[in-house]
Amino acid sequence: MAESGVSEPQPSVADRRFPAHRAPRCADIGELDAQLTGCRACPRLVAWREQVAVEKRAAYRDDDYWGRPVPGFGPDDAALAVVGLAPAAHGGNRTGRMFTGDPAGDFLVAGLHAVGLASQPTATGIDDGLTLRGVRMAAPVHCAPPQNKPTTEERDTCRPWLAAELSLLHPGLRAVVVLGGFGWRALLPVLADAGWQLPRPRPKFGHGTQVVLADRDGEELHLFGCYHPSQRNVNTGRLTRPMLDAVFREAAAVAGL
Ligand code: SF4
Repeated sequence: MAESGVSEPQPSVADRRFPAHRAPRCADIGELDAQLTGCRACPRLVAWREQVAVEKRAAYRDDDYWGRPVPGFGPDDAALAVVGLAPAAHGGNRTGRMFTGDPAGDFLVAGLHAVGLASQPTATGIDDGLTLRGVRMAAPVHCAPPQNKPTTEERDTCRPWLAAELSLLHPGLRAVVVLGGFGWRALLPVLADAGWQLPRPRPKFGHGTQVVLADRDGEELHLFGCYHPSQRNVNTGRLTRPMLDAVFREAAAVAGL
C-alpha cells in the first residue's frame, strides 16, 4: 500500500519486473510453479516457445506442445537440487516437464535411476509415472531459448524464480548438482542472495568440482559441478554414464539420500 492509501499497480505477467515482484511472495513450491507457468516477462523467449509449439518437429506433429514456462520437477522438500540450463524446444517445451522428452533428459534420468534417485530410467511425458526421490530439477531459465542460448538479460530476469525456489527448499537442501557452466554462473549469485556464503575468489565450474558452502546457521550445502548431458557432450564422450553416476552417487550420499 502506498502512503496515499492507493494500492501500487502490480506488474503484469508480461512486465519484466513480474518475476522479481511475484516470486518472493510465493508461500510454497506449488504456488511458485503456478505463478511461474503464467510468466511472459521475456518477449523473445515467449515468441520462440510459442512459435516452436505451433510449428512443431515432424516427429511430434500429433503432440500438443506445452509452449509455456516449464516449472521445476520433484518433491518440495528435496535435499538435492539439479540445476540445468533451460528447457529444450522439443523436450520440456513440448512435454511441460524438465528434462523430459529429449536425449539429455533420457541420459540424466537413466543416471538418476541407476543410483536410486528416480523411479524409472526413462522420462517420456508428463504422465509417464516418473517420480524422483529427494531430488528436484530446477533451471536458471524456464523458457526454451533459441539455440539453447538465453541472453544475459533473460537469465537475470528469470533469476527470481530460481532464487525463490531455492529459498523455499533451503531448510532441507544439502546438495546441488549443477549441469554446465551456464547454470554454475547463474546459480552462484542466487545462492549468495539466499544466504549461503561464497568463497572468494568465486569457484570456477569444472566437471568434478566440489565446493562446500555454509549458511548463516552453519548448515552446509555441497555444490557439485557436472558437464551438461547435452547430445554433444554425450556423443563426444566428454560426459559418460560412469562420470554422471559418480557425481550423483556422491551428491546423494552427502544429501543423506
Ligand atoms: Fe518468465 Fe523466466 Fe520465461 Fe522469462 S524465461 S518469460 S522470466 S519464466
